[in-house]
Amino acid sequence: MATRSDTAAENGSRFLISDLCKMLESYLDEEQVQDVYRAYLFGAEAHEGQHRLSGEPYIYHPIAAARILAELRLDHKTIVAAILHDVIEDTPTAKEQIVSGFGADVAELVDGVSKLTQIEFESPAEAQAENFRKMILAMVRDIRVILVKLADRLHNMRTLGVMRPEKRRRIARETLDIYAPIANRLGINAVRVELEDLGFAALYPLRYKVLEKAVHEARGHRKEVLNKIETAIKRRVQQEGLQGRILSREKHLYSLYRKIRDKTLSFEEVYDVYAFRIVVDEIDTCYRALGIMHNLFKPVPGKFKDYIAIPKANGYQSLHSILFGPYGVPIEVQIRTEDMDKIAESGVAAHWVYKSSEEKVDQMHAGAREWLRELLEMQTHAGDSLEFLENVKLDLFPDAVYVFTPAGEIMKLPHGATVIDFAYAVHTDVGDTCIAAKIDRQLVPLRTVLRNGQTVEIVTAAGAHPSPAWLSFVVSAKARSNIRHYQKNLKREEAIELGRRMLERAMGVFETSVDQVSGKRLRALLKDYHLKTEEDLLVDIGMGRRPSVLVAQALAPTDHGNASSDETAVQQPLVIKGSEGMVTRFSKCCRPIPGDPVVGVITGGRGMMIHTQTCRNIADDKYPAENCIDVQWEPGIDEEFPVEVSVIVEDRRGVLARVATVIGDADSNIENVGIEERDGLSNNLLFTLTVHNRQHLARVMRRVRSIPAVIKITRTKG
Ligand code: MN
Repeated sequence: MATRSDTAAENGSRFLISDLCKMLESYLDEEQVQDVYRAYLFGAEAHEGQHRLSGEPYIYHPIAAARILAELRLDHKTIVAAILHDVIEDTPTAKEQIVSGFGADVAELVDGVSKLTQIEFESPAEAQAENFRKMILAMVRDIRVILVKLADRLHNMRTLGVMRPEKRRRIARETLDIYAPIANRLGINAVRVELEDLGFAALYPLRYKVLEKAVHEARGHRKEVLNKIETAIKRRVQQEGLQGRILSREKHLYSLYRKIRDKTLSFEEVYDVYAFRIVVDEIDTCYRALGIMHNLFKPVPGKFKDYIAIPKANGYQSLHSILFGPYGVPIEVQIRTEDMDKIAESGVAAHWVYKSSEEKVDQMHAGAREWLRELLEMQTHAGDSLEFLENVKLDLFPDAVYVFTPAGEIMKLPHGATVIDFAYAVHTDVGDTCIAAKIDRQLVPLRTVLRNGQTVEIVTAAGAHPSPAWLSFVVSAKARSNIRHYQKNLKREEAIELGRRMLERAMGVFETSVDQVSGKRLRALLKDYHLKTEEDLLVDIGMGRRPSVLVAQALAPTDHGNASSDETAVQQPLVIKGSEGMVTRFSKCCRPIPGDPVVGVITGGRGMMIHTQTCRNIADDKYPAENCIDVQWEPGIDEEFPVEVSVIVEDRRGVLARVATVIGDADSNIENVGIEERDGLSNNLLFTLTVHNRQHLARVMRRVRSIPAVIKITRTKG
């Protein structure tokens, strides 16, 4: 028999095999602990000379993994497998040696864990999907395989600091995407929480730090309230003669982060919840304790959940309720028995602790097996790993939709997310310049709602802008805030630009210019108007809230004050460039195009609308003359403008296609087409098409007119 000594015990603070054995002695037989020690000797020899990136002997890693499992009080075979978990993969030691040394069960476990690690992949998506599939298959054979794998991953996450940043991020993402959800599904809360926080810290170090600091500061502020509530609860529980532990608890950082991100709540809203757990001896006592709590503080209606009567899918049992606390703070209480509390922390792992003696634990283990069996069935039906992953993820995160980028990266989006949400999830710039999208290589409208497993490709164009219409269908906070932000900035910039030109033009009347205005005069005027900056003034003018002429009058030197005997004769027309968007808009009633004589109409607070001079809305004197501004087109505008055209054609087969082709050949795009039947002999085709200017339109119309079936073509207005 080997004696327990530590050949590598140069560092006192390190967790050693002797520490592990001491821990195991508290719940395993002497013989079983000896097996673990033998495994250690075997592993230490196999890994002899190997070091981890941190420089320490390799054997420390499997010992640390075994410790995690010992804390969950797993059986000795799992502990032995944990110590040997990297032996097949990293050393020449064959599976047969493990069979003869430690038995077939342990060898199977070690083999299962090795297989999970040994897979080579083509693309990242395939890698993740395949990894996931293997993991599920391994779990189906023996759940302990995944427990060892989780312990392995947890220790790797704890020691992630030594990796290169890029590798660190990849491992962190995989941990959050795959390992933490599996730990959650198996109810191993302690492992899940730590995996999530370590993954969060490695993937978003900055966000982690900010949140950590915020929590640290807030903790100080709430200490008093917390103590007060805790004392009140303790006193009442004692008065009622109840035996139990009362613990205050805090949400871990990743769950705070997720709540803030997904529900777009502020830190205060998420953090300012006081959470307590009451752990009692029996189920009956749970319900009594609940009654006492509801009597002490009023419950929030509709927030009580009985997970004792109806356990969660992962076996979790507890009573949950939310109460109105003192100062109006919400209090969250969880009430459960000691057994339930243990299961809530260790989930499926509790099966080995209680060695099937408890019915509940057995049921839970059976539940987990049932879930795995369903997954196995899914896997035989699924076409490939990706499809399988899609199904499993659906099961693990029912509120999310998973899609792929063309590079195979998996993107998680909220339920109901559209192509635009996806584009913004990829990058703000991608969202801002998105003009089209393909789902599984087919072009789709931008409002299309995404479904699990689709591959989404975004087409962007330099200089493209988000459309305000997107706000009516996007669901993610990121997309919404980016579109709003863009609109706001753009509108203001445009209004400043238009306001400057209008003011300059009005100053011309007084034979002066904005540059010649003294700073003192400008500041006095801003004060009069209760405005902060010159830009605010220009925005007001551009948006039509303040007539440019009045501002010019106030700014012009007094000796020019009355020079405007014949304003309109002196004013130069305002030049429009065609690229105006939100502050200067082109009227849909007459659809002006370059070459048309045009007029600008200032509408209070909404900027300027451009009409043709012949537009019915202008002729009717609908707008007061002082709101109408003389405008003219800048020469050489190259934008495209929509225009409406009516084409009367003989009712012949194929004539629409013919007309459409001719329009296209004349470098014009058809935006819309409608057909009005006239008398059975002819039809009226109503096109909205784009042209650069009047000459271009004339060329298009000439070409269309030359089609024999075309009877008449006219530009229509309104
Ligand atoms: Mn390992």
